[in-house]
Amino acid sequence: MKTHRHLCCHACDELVTIKLPEKEGRYRCPTCGHTLFKNYKNSIEKSYAISIASLILFIVANYFPILTFSVIGQNSTATFMTAIEYLYRDGDYIMAIAVLMTTIVVPFTFILFAMIVFGMLYHGKIYPIIIPMLRIIEDLRPWGMLDVFLIGVLVSVVKLVKMGTIHFGISFWAFVSLVPLMAYAHMILDPHKVWEIIEDAGMCLYQKEHK
Ligand SMILES: [Zn+2]
Repeated sequence: MKTHRHLCCHACDELVTIKLPEKEGRYRCPTCGHTLFKNYKNSIEKSYAISIASLILFIVANYFPILTFSVIGQNSTATFMTAIEYLYRDGDYIMAIAVLMTTIVVPFTFILFAMIVFGMLYHGKIYPIIIPMLRIIEDLRPWGMLDVFLIGVLVSVVKLVKMGTIHFGISFWAFVSLVPLMAYAHMILDPHKVWEIIEDAGMCLYQKEHK
């Protein structure tokens, strides 16, 4: 049984020895203070639960109307896709694709892959597909911009409130709950922990590169 683990600091290249089992909390490089990794209790279980909840909220947020706007007896309903449709109709194709990617495609792929990855880890059934999936999750992380979209929605709401009556749909509340949930998921998730479990499961991380 291993008693120590060695890690290389990404900031200063110092080789750090970590005593096993790892304690809960944040590990920092003794030389430069850079965060090496975070070790939260039950992070896999929490991440799995959050990814399931996020998927449900994401489907609700996209399926139902986000808000209904009433002005002089006229009602108009908006969904997540409405903004993309308008941009596309106006000829802003690049913008429409960018909004579609950052608010629907990337968050959906991220949540779905996270659910599969954490599902495998939680149930102890790790298949080789976990490696490319985890890499995709790490690459997608900076491209999900639901929080930016939420700010955009809130700014529009503030402007529209002066012009008519706004009724928030179930999708709005699902969306508002989803953003902090995903922020919490990002906070507790540490890829280091996940890679460690995969490594302990006997999977060579660099199989392909070494062939
Ligand atoms: Zn360092």
